[in-house]
Amino acid sequence: MIQTDVVIIGTGAAGLTAAIYCARANMSPIVLEGHEPGGQLTTTTDVENFPGFPEGISGPLLMEHMKNQAMRFGAKLIPTMAINAKLSSRPFVVDLENGEQIKAQTVIISTGASAKYLGLAHEKELIGKGVSACATCDGFFYKGKIVHVAGGGDTAIEEATFLARFASKVYLIHRRDKLRASKPMQERIFNNPKVEIIWNTIIKELKFDDQGLNGLLVENTQTHETTLRKTDGFFLGIGHQPNTAFLNHQITLNPQGFIVTQNGPETNIPGVFAAGDVQDPYYRQAISAAGSGCMSAIKAERFLEEHGRI
Ligand code: NDP
Repeated sequence: MIQTDVVIIGTGAAGLTAAIYCARANMSPIVLEGHEPGGQLTTTTDVENFPGFPEGISGPLLMEHMKNQAMRFGAKLIPTMAINAKLSSRPFVVDLENGEQIKAQTVIISTGASAKYLGLAHEKELIGKGVSACATCDGFFYKGKIVHVAGGGDTAIEEATFLARFASKVYLIHRRDKLRASKPMQERIFNNPKVEIIWNTIIKELKFDDQGLNGLLVENTQTHETTLRKTDGFFLGIGHQPNTAFLNHQITLNPQGFIVTQNGPETNIPGVFAAGDVQDPYYRQAISAAGSGCMSAIKAERFLEEHGRI
């Protein structure tokens, strides 16, 4: 059994910032990298709004820098997932996918949020065969092709805009007649000649053959008319689900499944803190995730000072 002052679960901007602060505070953090080391920023291209990079920086490079910075101060990164956590008493015990266990005085949960899917038949098995939730990962494969994107928020607009760099035509399918996305993002899409919005439309079925996805059966919500739309690719842009399943409802979640925090990163369990998108349905920015990671580290350190080690 590994013993530590603090285990940090997740290595997005929140987890790695927490790791930097905990390591510099001599807490020897154990950091669980998860299935997507570096988090959502590893699936973006240029990050132009992270302070300190006037020319912008690529998401993966930014995360690489954060990881190296955390390791320089002694954070220990383990390439595994937390599959269960016993949080009813301290020291907390976290079960790892690799079979090991960690006994920790404090826990920082920074597991982020994962892309949502529509729940259509064959949707998951067609991932990589025409279905994707990451334009920046897969957009390149759709050079000169026709793609459809589902959603009407900033994620969908970002995906559609990115795909328009490669695809011959991008159709954005939205279930309403108004976009949820912010005004500047909306302008971006309205001004892109390669993107066309299909309003008031839902996707009913995915059509495919041995080669993968080739069409979408869609329905107009006003007329209830169904249409078969040919497509080479289909991208989900309908939001994200916080990654909290391994907690087994031991921590208070809001109705959307985000961890409820107070006084910054405090959860309902003293000594367990949450940072980043797993507790933030609102800002969801790299810089706000990093900021909450910093707060969770400082809180964990002060918790240990006040409550001691058990
Ligand atoms: P949102 O929840 O904002 O938007 C989700 C979109 O998907 C909505 O338009 C919603 O439709 C639609 N949708 C949800 N479920 C379904 C479904 N089952 N079927 C069809 N459509 C569905 O999520 P985002 O990920 O877009 O954004 C989340 C947050 O992250 C926001 O605060 C956003 O501003 C931020 N963000 C910022 C970015 C940036 O600034 N560059 C980039 C990406 C995200 P409806 O509108 O009808 O509810």
